[in-house]
Amino acid sequence: MKTGENPMLTNRGRQRCHATSKRTGDQCKSPVVPGWRVCRMHGAGGGHKAGPTHPRWKHGRRSQAEAQARKETAALLELINNFSEAKL
Ligand SMILES: [Zn+2]
Repeated sequence: MKTGENPMLTNRGRQRCHATSKRTGDQCKSPVVPGWRVCRMHGAGGGHKAGPTHPRWKHGRRSQAEAQARKETAALLELINNFSEAKL
């Protein structure tokens, strides 16, 4: 078992789930999954949201948005090169 901080103590200050319990009708109050407004039982099961708030986010140079931007830039450059070659 991994020793170190007690997870029950690290969850103490964490934001609470905003979902309403079907069973009691009260607010769920479980700790939220980081980056979400709900707990693991109320729809945050798909992992952390992608983006700068993700715990493993480093610099964004390998992000999907950045890859898309690179692709579009390459396509534009290709267009420009083809255009200038066709003119000559
Ligand atoms: Zn919940």
